[in-house]
Amino acid sequence: MKIDDLPIRDELRGQSPYGAPQLDVPVQLNTNENPYQLPDELVARIAERVAEAARDLNRYPDRDAVQLRTELAAYLNRTNGLNGTAGTELDVRQVWAANGSNEIIQQLLQTFGGPGRSALGFEPSYQMHELISRGTGTRWIAGPRNADFTIDEAAAAAALAEHRPDVLFICSPNNPTGTAVAAETVLRLYDAAQAVKPTMVVVDEAYVEFSHQPSLLPLLAGRPLLVITRTMSKAFGAAGLRLGYLAADPAVVDAVQLVRLPYHLSSVTQATALACLEHTDTLLGYVRRLKEGRDEVVARLAALGLEVTASDANFIQFGVFQDPQAVWRALLDQGVLVRNNGVPGRLRVTAGTPEENEAFLAAVATVIKELS
Ligand code: PMP
Repeated sequence: MKIDDLPIRDELRGQSPYGAPQLDVPVQLNTNENPYQLPDELVARIAERVAEAARDLNRYPDRDAVQLRTELAAYLNRTNGLNGTAGTELDVRQVWAANGSNEIIQQLLQTFGGPGRSALGFEPSYQMHELISRGTGTRWIAGPRNADFTIDEAAAAAALAEHRPDVLFICSPNNPTGTAVAAETVLRLYDAAQAVKPTMVVVDEAYVEFSHQPSLLPLLAGRPLLVITRTMSKAFGAAGLRLGYLAADPAVVDAVQLVRLPYHLSSVTQATALACLEHTDTLLGYVRRLKEGRDEVVARLAALGLEVTASDANFIQFGVFQDPQAVWRALLDQGVLVRNNGVPGRLRVTAGTPEENEAFLAAVATVIKELS
């Protein structure tokens, strides 16, 4: 029996599941993971907190994850200068958590998208925005970008007026290009969308801790249809934990609770995430190192004569290659795995440890010499 022999939904026929190859090669720079393992003192703290949680595993977890959401709000306030700032300081009622920001996005689309509704994003962007839209029966609309991968505001406003989406995705910094979106652009897109009809504007800030530009969290004040999604997968180096979260108006948090599965966030997940939040200073130290490495890789790729898209993320888009798949393959032959996201002429590499970055740069230098 094949998938298509099953009575699956028509829109899933012929689709492939999302996933980058998980190949066992020495230098894996293809999935935007943080290369640093969690420090020993954090691993010990996780063991302690999980042991405490384990005793109570006969009980369901805190369905509303109140302690975790309180600590996430404190993290956001502390790291974005919102602490004690009336009108912008976030409280627990404005933060919601789930198993990865993918589940957050799914809950948002289950709440605000769905059959008869649509979502618009500016491509190329994070492919799961489209795939989760389709998975929730939400029609997907591909919006345009400028040639330099920034958002074309005039074309965006025209697309909003034409398609009248229910959900607008803005990914900043954008995956796979690394491009951050200016706060003024987000404000103009928010206003352009609301001028057409009430539209949920979801800003995906999965990589914002790596940005040269501050988070857009202060924009939440007075904008009840704006949602900012974040994750512990990248800056916290905890992709295996599966913990994503959002900040928005308290009404949005109430609304997503209409679709979340009861007890969706296990006690073990909540305990582990709380332990990680106790160690943000150390983890953000790794982020600083990664940002420095990223900026150096950008400069050295440019020095090799490549076109490099300005990066505000923990990855870098580079090219332009006549045959990016051939370059991808040649790099793999050198033991370096990068990502071909299908952006014409371009590849994407994740910022790694200094040793990984050196191995990548050496492989690129060899490959472009071979191919020229
Ligand atoms: N948003 C963006 C832009 C991403 O690149 C990713 C992961 N690749 C996610 C969200 C999802 O991350 P997670 O589910 O691990 O939080």
